[in-house]
Amino acid sequence: MPSYTAPTKDMQFVLHDVLGASTQDIPGYEEMDRDFTGAVLEEAGKLAQEVLHPLNVVGDTQGCKLENGIVRTPDGFKEAFDQVRDGGWTALDCDTQYGGQGLPYLMQTGVGEILSSANMAFNMYQGLTHGAYSAIHAHGTDAQKAKWLPKMVTCEWTGTMNLTEPHCGTDLGLMRTKAVPQEDGSYRITGQKIFISAGDHDMSDNIVHLVLAKIQGAPEGIKGVSLFIVPKVLVDDDGNLGARNGVSVGKIEEKMGIHGNSTCVMNYDEAEGYLLGDAHKGMRAMFTMMNEARLGVGLQGYAQAEIAYQNARAYALDRLQGRDVTGTKNPDGPADPLIVHPDIRRNLMDQKSFVEGARAFVFWGAMMIDRAHRNADEDADGLISLLTPIIKGFLTDKGFEYATAAQQVYGGHGYIEEWGMSQFARDARIAMIYEGANGVQALDLVGRKLAQDGGKHVMAFFDMVKSFCKENAEDETLKAGFLEPLKAASKDLQSAAMYFMQSGMKNPNAALAGSYDFMTMFGHVALGLMWAKMAKTAGGMLGDDGADRDFLEAKIATGRYYMARQLPATGMHLSRIQSGPETVMELEPTAF
Ligand SMILES: Cc1cc2nc3c(=O)[nH]c(=O)nc-3n(C[C@H](O)[C@H](O)[C@H](O)COP(=O)(O)OP(=O)(O)OC[C@H]3O[C@@H](n4cnc5c(N)ncnc54)[C@H](O)[C@@H]3O)c2cc1C
Repeated sequence: MPSYTAPTKDMQFVLHDVLGASTQDIPGYEEMDRDFTGAVLEEAGKLAQEVLHPLNVVGDTQGCKLENGIVRTPDGFKEAFDQVRDGGWTALDCDTQYGGQGLPYLMQTGVGEILSSANMAFNMYQGLTHGAYSAIHAHGTDAQKAKWLPKMVTCEWTGTMNLTEPHCGTDLGLMRTKAVPQEDGSYRITGQKIFISAGDHDMSDNIVHLVLAKIQGAPEGIKGVSLFIVPKVLVDDDGNLGARNGVSVGKIEEKMGIHGNSTCVMNYDEAEGYLLGDAHKGMRAMFTMMNEARLGVGLQGYAQAEIAYQNARAYALDRLQGRDVTGTKNPDGPADPLIVHPDIRRNLMDQKSFVEGARAFVFWGAMMIDRAHRNADEDADGLISLLTPIIKGFLTDKGFEYATAAQQVYGGHGYIEEWGMSQFARDARIAMIYEGANGVQALDLVGRKLAQDGGKHVMAFFDMVKSFCKENAEDETLKAGFLEPLKAASKDLQSAAMYFMQSGMKNPNAALAGSYDFMTMFGHVALGLMWAKMAKTAGGMLGDDGADRDFLEAKIATGRYYMARQLPATGMHLSRIQSGPETVMELEPTAF
C-alpha cells in the first residue's frame, strides 16, 4: 500500500524563506507567520494522512454507483466529507461575509496540495464547489450571494460546472442547451451536459449547478452563451429546501482514474434556473471559475507526482537489486538497494526537481493572485493571467510523466495494482484533459496571452528573469551552475517569442504549430527561475546558526540538477519551433 506524508518542511521553506510571506505588503499576509502556517499545514497533513489517504484506494476500487437516480459515493467518503466540513477546511479563503475565514489564497493553495495528493478524487467535490462559489461571488447579485454562498462555503451545498455537451467540449459556441425566460425573471433550462464532475452524490443536501446555456433568440456562437444557477433542489427565499428541480443523472461514466469522483451525464428538463451575471456574457462569468480551476488542476498535476515520488523514493531505498558498479553499499545483504544505480537516481532526481520546482511556482502564482485581488494590482493580474495556461498545461503534463516515472522505479510491481502506483498515473492523466485540454492551453498562451496588453506581461516576465540574474550576478551559490543555464533558457524563450511575432503574422500556423513547444519551454524557464530563487535562499541560510544543512544542501543540489538536466530542453523546443509549420502541415488529411 502506498503512503503519504505532507511535505510541510518544504512548504514552509517556500512560504517563508523564499517568498517571505508574512513580510509581503498584501492585506491578510501579516497573519501568515511561520507558526500560523505551520500549524495549519500540520493539521491538514493529519487529516490527509489519517482520513483522506486511506480512502484513496477505496475510492479507486469501489468507484461511484448510480442507484435509483442517486449517486452513491464509496464507503467512508460521506463521513470524511463531514469531517472536512466540520474542520472548516472548505472555507479557508472564502469571504468572511458569507462564513469563510478570509485567509489568503496562498494558504488555501498549500492545504489544497496536501488534500489533493492524499485523495485527488475526493478533494474535487470541494474544489468544484469553491470554483462555483467564486463565480457567484464575482458575478452574482447581493441577493444571489446571500442565498447561495453561505451553504456553499460550508459545503452543505456543493457546486459543479456544466459546460461540456456530447457534440461540444472545446468549441462551446456549438452549445445546444436552451434557456427560456419566464415571467418571474427565472429561466427554464433544457439540454444535456456530459462529463460533469461531482454532478451528483450523497454527501450534501443540495447541489448548485452552474450551467452554460443559450437564451432563446441569443446571438449565434460563443457570444450567445449565458450562465445560470440551477439547483438540484429548489430553495425558497428563506433558504428552505423545497421540491426537486428538473435535474437528473443520465449515467455515471466509467473511466480511467479518479473513480471516487462521480463523472455524470446531467439531464436538464425544463429545470428552473437563474441568470448569473449579464445575459450573453456567460463565458466571462465562467472564466472566473475556469481560471481558478486551471490553477487548481495544475496543482493536481504536481500533487500526484509528489505522492508518487514519495513512494518511489521509499521503494528505491528498500528494494535490493544488483550491485553498485563503483563498490557495494550493502555488503551484508544479497544486493544493494535500487537507489545506488545512476539510472534510478536520474529518474528520482527528475521527479524531485520537478515537484519542488512546481510547488514554488504554484505558491508564487498564488501570491500573485492574492496581490491581484487584495491589492488590486493590475500587473500581478496580467502576469498570472499569462502564466495560468503554463501552470495548467506544463504542470499536468509533467505531473503525469513523473507519476509514470515513479511507477517505473517499481519495475513490474509498479504495474500491479497491489502497490497502488498505477492509481497515481491513472488519476493524474485527466488533469491534462479537463479544464481545457493542454493543446488548447498552449493555443491560449500563444494566440491570446502572449500579445495581451501589447505583450506587456511577457516582457515583465523576461524582465523579472533578467533583473534576478543581474542582481545576483555575484551570488556564490548561483554562480555555480544556476545563472548561465537560466540566462540561456530565457534567451531561447525570447527567441521563440520573436519567431512567433515575425512569422505568425504571415502564417498563423507558424505560431500554432509551435505553441505546445512554447508552453513547455516557458514552463521550464519558470521552474528554472524558481530553482534559482530557492538556491539563492538556501545558499544564504547555510551559515545561519542551527541551519538545517542537509535540507539546504539537498535543495541546492536538486536545483543544480534541474538547471543541468532539464533546462537545456529549451534549446530543443526552440529548434522545433524555428523549423516552422511546413513539416507539421505537409500531409493531406487522407495521408494520415
Ligand atoms: C473525467 C472528466 C471530468 C470532466 N469534468 C468536467 C466538468 O466538471 N464540467 C465540464 O463542463 N466538463 C468536464 N469535462 C469535460 C472536459 O473539460 C472536456 O472533455 C475537454 O474540455 C475537451 O473537450 P472534448 O472532450 O469535447 O474534446 P474536443 O473539444 O473534441 O477536443 C479533442 C482534442 O482536440 C483538441 N482541439 C480541439 N479544438 C482545437 C483547436 N481549435 N486547435 C487545436 N486543438 C484543438 C483538444 O485539445 C483535444 O485534444 C470532464 C471530462 C472528463 C473526462
